[in-house]
Amino acid sequence: MENHLQTQDWGLGLKDKHLIIAGPCSAETPEQIEKICLDMKEANMVPDVFRAGIWKPRTRPGSFEGIGEVGLTWMEIVRHHLNIPITTEVGNTAHVESALKHGVDILWIGARTTVNPFAVQEIADALKGVDIPVMVKNPMNPDLELWRGALERLQAVGINKLAAIHRGFSDAYDKRFRNKPNWSMPMHLKRIWKGMQVINDPSHIVGNREGLLETAQRAINFGLDGLMIETHHDPDNAWSDAKQQVTPRRLREIIDAIDFKKPLEAEQPSEKLQDLRRAVDHIDDQLLDLLAERFAIIDQIGDHKREHNLTVFQAERWKAVMDSRTQKGIEKNLSEKFMKELLYCIHEESVKRQEKKLREDVSVKKSV
Ligand code: PEP
Ligand code: MN
Repeated sequence: MENHLQTQDWGLGLKDKHLIIAGPCSAETPEQIEKICLDMKEANMVPDVFRAGIWKPRTRPGSFEGIGEVGLTWMEIVRHHLNIPITTEVGNTAHVESALKHGVDILWIGARTTVNPFAVQEIADALKGVDIPVMVKNPMNPDLELWRGALERLQAVGINKLAAIHRGFSDAYDKRFRNKPNWSMPMHLKRIWKGMQVINDPSHIVGNREGLLETAQRAINFGLDGLMIETHHDPDNAWSDAKQQVTPRRLREIIDAIDFKKPLEAEQPSEKLQDLRRAVDHIDDQLLDLLAERFAIIDQIGDHKREHNLTVFQAERWKAVMDSRTQKGIEKNLSEKFMKELLYCIHEESVKRQEKKLREDVSVKKSV
């Protein structure tokens, strides 16, 4: 069941709910585009926006690099059958000019372009004075500032219909995903950029058909605003990303299986939720008091180390603290990863405070 969400309309008649973008990885032939449209209709799976890659940024040369500008003329087929907005990827000024000439409704910047501020700036400059929505995929590497920077470059030339797309990050070692998701990063982007919509692209995250539903559901659970899912009438024979595309019929099943959550902002929190939040506020106050108390003692340890001319960092003590606390945390059902990150953060701060104490001593000596 699809629930309601404050989605920006962008002047395109988009519905007030999670945005669903679907279509092939690449436009291949006019027949392919038409068949996908007809299958979408037949499966009752007409998305909000139709996607099709025209220029494909391939990691190595030799594979299909996109059909090029002629593919944009086939978008009329989509308009004719589905009458929905169309989006494609642009990677340079020539792509922008061509996409605008052919009336593409929404542009997106791909992950391999977002990493390059020169390329993003060129695209932004080509869009100056143009009123068109632009979606920016996260860069290949998990760098929030680079992602945000690309959005800012577009905003600076007057593009205010912006969205971000989380498509995961390449990881040399973790091969569970084609591009590993990092759920805290899109959430952080939403925190620092109020109103920023983040759409999830499970196709490029998972890289196969099987894991799509689980990843899409997680994206919705985390509060992301829509899904971009690669859809093809004959996925096995697609000219690019064959392993991860699904038929319109399968997409219908996936969308029907997703439990679309309501954003909390959409309604008044219930009494129960307010009570629970008050309890959390109270615990946070206690946590802060305890942390302040802990650091006051850390300062005393710092004084002691200064007086006895000891170094701040002692590896053995550090290891003992890490191991024992992590173990206790695990026993209390806290994850090992969380415990390590928390303890590391507390320890960093402790070391910094103590080192400051040691410097205080130097300044006292200097001033004498
Ligand atoms: C795509 O959407 O087909 C694509 C190339 O995506 P990305 O930039 O995320 O790799
Ligand atoms: Mn693709």
